[in-house]
Amino acid sequence: MEKKVYLVQIGDLDGKILQYLQKHLNRFFKNFIVSVDILPKMFPLDETDYILERQQYYGKSILRKLEYYVKSNKLFCTLGILDKDIFSISKNKKPYHFVFGLARTRKDLDSPGVSIVSITRLREQFYNRRTKKKREQKRILKEAIHEIGHTLGLHHCDNDCVMQFSSSVYYVDKKPSKFCKACQKELNIFFNVIKSSKFETVYLIKLKNYINKKLN
Ligand SMILES: [Zn+2]
Ligand SMILES: [Zn+2]
Repeated sequence: MEKKVYLVQIGDLDGKILQYLQKHLNRFFKNFIVSVDILPKMFPLDETDYILERQQYYGKSILRKLEYYVKSNKLFCTLGILDKDIFSISKNKKPYHFVFGLARTRKDLDSPGVSIVSITRLREQFYNRRTKKKREQKRILKEAIHEIGHTLGLHHCDNDCVMQFSSSVYYVDKKPSKFCKACQKELNIFFNVIKSSKFETVYLIKLKNYINKKLN
């Protein structure tokens, strides 16, 4: 499985958003990922996922359908972007009235990673405020990095970190668009870029002993 992130449009969407994300995510994940590519085919929205009483789409169902597609096409990591308001229900049946995104957190490199981001509530228009393009793009990028982070094995983080859970756009704006040191380290371990600190310590002690012996 080639270590690529695939961006996919779900339903109607301004295609420029995918191009913006491709450019910035490529730069951001360059140490870990071969490339970030845009899938040429749009992933259709299933109208049965629209819940009339809530006037929202059921995010988990969209994620599940995308996961099926990702698995059958053996894609390493996929992020679907949609412009529809989504809600979710947690494992203990607690409803999330809305979510900015969803992902499957995985534990190994062999299982495919799948995630989605809804841009609807990341735009000022949703709150009847004037469009702020740059700020909105930044929000979308942060949530994209966050969901991809989950697909690379990261959990929510309380540090000054993009992996913070955001319950509103206020918190999306507040968090940085990068990983904290702890999450960065976890990513390094996930991709085996560096050895774990435990291994490093053992290695350094051995090296020190070896040098000491030589000197004596
Ligand atoms: Zn999250
Ligand atoms: Zn973190």
